[in-house]
Amino acid sequence: MSTPSFDADVLVVGAGPAGVAATLMATSLNMTVLVVEADSIGGKLQTIGALENVSGNWTTGPQLADALAADLSRLEQAGRCSLVRSRAVGVKGHSDRAEVILADTQVLSARAVVVGTGVTAMAPSDTDWISAAPSLATPPLWRAKPEQIGPRTYVLGGDRPLGTWLRAHPQSSATLHVLAPPTDDYKLAEVSGDDRVRIVPVSHVSLSQPDHGDGFTVEVKDRQGIHRTYTAASVLANLGSRPAALKGLKVDENGYCPPEMQHPRIFVVGDLRSGRYQRITTAQGSGAEAVLSYYYSVA
Ligand SMILES: Cc1cc2nc3c(=O)[nH]c(=O)nc-3n(C[C@H](O)[C@H](O)[C@H](O)COP(=O)(O)OP(=O)(O)OC[C@H]3O[C@@H](n4cnc5c(N)ncnc54)[C@H](O)[C@@H]3O)c2cc1C
Repeated sequence: MSTPSFDADVLVVGAGPAGVAATLMATSLNMTVLVVEADSIGGKLQTIGALENVSGNWTTGPQLADALAADLSRLEQAGRCSLVRSRAVGVKGHSDRAEVILADTQVLSARAVVVGTGVTAMAPSDTDWISAAPSLATPPLWRAKPEQIGPRTYVLGGDRPLGTWLRAHPQSSATLHVLAPPTDDYKLAEVSGDDRVRIVPVSHVSLSQPDHGDGFTVEVKDRQGIHRTYTAASVLANLGSRPAALKGLKVDENGYCPPEMQHPRIFVVGDLRSGRYQRITTAQGSGAEAVLSYYYSVA
């Protein structure tokens, strides 16, 4: 399936588990692939400190990410795929081709585009229950080392990386004070038996940094409307994610990009599809399946 007038047979945006699976399937079917990746190969795998639901005896996400990077490197050396280190900003479908628009305005074209950009971490200013200046930096919990957690460390939000962090650091006795809005209650069941977690149920949080000096002022309104103010040495974000949709994709009411809503030459795979199927193996399966469905549609 050679297409000299295009940059490749298939463009894949995002080299997470979904995009790499799509690339492997496409190259195995003799299609040429150009992969556009803005950051690290492996995507969210880099954040997973303990892994137990993927076959292959992987115990951490970075191990699997290294294996995916090795797959891409092998395919590149064999001349079957190329990696473009760039951020994609948009996609466009036409009757004979699909395009990816890069941040530097370059336009790539192919017969089909697979988009596996996943979800991206929310900042405090992206939520409706935290007031904070957009410039206020709160590093992610998943990246924190146990020795960085002190007695006055607060965690914003009870999203699932909390359970992963606790499993990844079973020897740590650090206490995590988790400020949790009502929408996170159902996620906290997973950590309710762990006495290293102190849940602070909140309805609103205002976060600021004093002009001079270290730390944060954390003003909390609890679920009964009572206000309390804490002084935190450090604040870590654990707020969940939002879909990393590209311009030109059709989105649903939650910001996800259901595959069935897209142009016939544009295939959405992995976490970007829906909040319901955000797992490594479903991402891989969806990447491979999208390429096969394109392959059979033109065969
Ligand atoms: C802390 C944590 C723990 C988890 N634990 C597990 C677990 O134990 N088991 C499990 O099955 N799942 C787990 N998951 C979920 C799993 O990581 C995801 O389901 C999976 O990584 C989704 O793969 P993906 O390829 O769709 O997206 P991602 O892995 O998010 O990859 C998307 C890729 O696209 C790139 N990208 C994004 N935007 C652009 C752009 N505009 N241009 C170019 N490139 C772009 C990103 O840099 C990234 O490399 C966990 C997730 C987190 C955050």
